[in-house]
Order: sequence, then C-alpha cells, then structure tokens
Amino acid sequence: VINQNLSKISIDLASRSYSIDIAYNLKPLDVFIGNNNYKKIFIITDSNIANIHLEELLQSLHLLNLSSIIKLVVEPGETSKSFKVFQDLSEEIIANQPDRKSLVIAFGGGVVGDLSGFIASTMLRGIDFIQLPTTLLAMVDSSVGGKTAINSKIGKNLIGTFYQPKMVLCNLSYLKTLPKRQLINGYAEVLKYGLIEDLDFFYWLENNYTNIVESSKYSQANENLSFAVSKSCKIKAKIVVADEKEQNLRAVLNFGHSFAHILEQETGYSNLLLHGEAVAIGISLANRLAYRLKMIESEVVARVDRHLIDVGFVLNPYKIKPEWDIENLKNSIFLDKKNENQKLTFILLENIGKVKIVKNVNFEDFSCVIDDYFKGFLNN
Ligand code: ADP
Ligand code: ZN
Repeated sequence: VINQNLSKISIDLASRSYSIDIAYNLKPLDVFIGNNNYKKIFIITDSNIANIHLEELLQSLHLLNLSSIIKLVVEPGETSKSFKVFQDLSEEIIANQPDRKSLVIAFGGGVVGDLSGFIASTMLRGIDFIQLPTTLLAMVDSSVGGKTAINSKIGKNLIGTFYQPKMVLCNLSYLKTLPKRQLINGYAEVLKYGLIEDLDFFYWLENNYTNIVESSKYSQANENLSFAVSKSCKIKAKIVVADEKEQNLRAVLNFGHSFAHILEQETGYSNLLLHGEAVAIGISLANRLAYRLKMIESEVVARVDRHLIDVGFVLNPYKIKPEWDIENLKNSIFLDKKNENQKLTFILLENIGKVKIVKNVNFEDFSCVIDDYFKGFLNN
C-alpha cells in the first residue's frame, strides 16, 4: 500500500483539466514535475507545516535535480490571507525572476492554498501551480475546484479568482500530524458530501467515521480514510465540472454554509469556531429549516444531529461563546452571496443524499429557526 497510488480522479475542464492523486507519499508529484520542465519552484507554506514536513518535500524535489527552489514561509492562520502578505510574497517571487516555466506549490491547509492560488493566478498573469494540501479540509474541499482568495477588511474571501491548479496531490501521510480538532473540522465537509449527494456514503460514514477523525487509527493501510477522501473529491469534482464558475449548480456545495457564515461572522472568524465546526451547526440549522418548510421528517434532523454529536461537534452555541447578539446574527444573513433582492436562498435537504436550492424563503421562517435553536440550548 505504501508505494501504491491509491486513486486518481480526473477533473475534466478542457484545457484546464488536471487530476487529483490520493497517495501515502510524494510519488505522483515527483512524476508530474519530472514530466514538466520547470526551471524554478516557489514553495509557499506556513511555519507549522515547514517545521514538520518541509524537509521531506525538499529532499524529494532535490532528487529531481531542479536548479532553483525558493521557500516562502508565512505565519499560520487566516491573517496570512491579507493584501500585505499577498504583496510581500509577490515581491519576493518577482525578486527571484519568475517566468512562464516557474511553478508555485501550495503546501499547506486552506489558508496557504487560497493565498498561493491567488498569487499564482496574478503572477505574470498566471503561472502554474500545484496544490499539496496538508489538512483534511484542504484535501476534500479547498484545494479542489480552483477557487483562490484573500480577505478584505470587510469580509472573507471577497478578493479572488477562479484558477485551476495543474495537479492536486492528497498525501494522506500528512494527516498523521494534524491535530484532532482539525481532523474533525475537515470532517464537516466530508459529511456534507454524503448529505447532499450520496445516501450510501452517509450510512458508511455513520459506521466508519472514527477511522477518519481519530489519527490513532491512521496506519499506512487506513483504507477507510482514503475511501472517504476520494469519495469526497469525486463528488466535488463532479459538481465543479458541471459548473466551474458557480453560476448555479455549484451552489449546492454551500449546504450548511449560509448558517455557518453568520455564526463565523459573530465569532469573528476566530479560533472560537473553526469553519468546519460552524458548518456542523449550519447543517443542523439547515435541516431544522427544511423540517419547518415540510421538506424533511423530524427523524432526518435527529439522525444527522446524532451523528454530528457522535463525531464530536459542539452543537450548543453557548458552549462556544456565552453570549450571542441574535439580532445581529440574523441580519448578517443578508450579506450572503446567494440572496437576491432581499429574498433568502438556502440549500436544503429533500432527503439524505438529495438537495434542493430553495429561493424566496421568508425571513420569518429563518428567524424562527434561529430563535428556537438558541432557546433550546438556553435551558440546558
Ligand atoms: P484549513 O485547511 O482548515 O483551512 P489552515 O490552513 O488554517 O486550515 O490550517 C490549520 C492549522 O493546521 C494551521 O495552524 C496549520 O499550520 C496546521 N497544519 C496544517 N497542516 C498540518 C499538518 N499536516 N500537521 C500539523 N499541523 C498542520
Ligand atoms: Zn466549507
């Protein structure tokens, strides 16, 4: 298993096509770079990942006799997705005389991936880049599909491009060093795929989730982990190929996210509530809204909540933060990109594995769902 390439998923986008490799090593990357004549490689990473995994990557690249490898290390965390860091790294790359035969490797989690993709897409109007994700969240979500971004003072991910990588390599061995909280964080997106697209995958996750969120179960042969990552990437790939620039269908990937974003807004996108943790509560809230709109039975809401709790998600918002400004929370829903003319749009389940884009949801229904949810936890 160690040397085997576990699976390869093709993203079919005409001249922008590429593949996602899932493996327990760097071989697919070596093969790709060996087949392409890159003169300079810029590795962008954060200091945590650099400390643990950079040496191995450099060794692997040095074996390919590349003349020039430049390391760019940013601080860990969302603050690195800024204009300032974008500018500093761009200037540093330019000082090293990049050209069309230069490559950027995004070596890290979602922060590094979004930032590096944005830099690669604007550098000389676009140079090649590769995603080498090191978090579960980045493997199953942010590194697939070609969205790049930095943050504005006013909001997250408001500045960015659609720019596809030349390859994605999910080297599952990186996940062994990822803290459990980060594994659970990424799991929210894995679960999302089951809920929106694949009932059998959801059942499978109910029985097998411990193999994904407990890194103590990670051996070279954790077939459950590679199955879950590859299933997630396949579902995302299918949706991205059908709607590369999010005109319509791709919005289903936002299941649970409208609610998640208002919660993240209220916690300042801080460590109090990671993105996946917000998505977990968002999924629970979306299901309550679907129940209120008579789209699903209460058993579905309960079953999904049960699973979220089993996995280790905190659904009680007062355990995240003792006080919430509920009015503020509700009003920030109008910042959501999916809403048109003050009419609310939500991605809701019709059943597990089947999702619908619901337009024209009344603010009243949304508001009641929020109120009931928070009230339900106040008495506990
Ligand atoms: P995400 O991928 O969830 O968007 P980040 O890019 O912010 O998240 O990464 C989450 C945190 O995990 C960061 O502090 C990062 O340095 C750290 N990290 C990323 N990959 C690994 C890894 N393989 N092992 C240990 N820590 C990691
Ligand atoms: Zn997400």
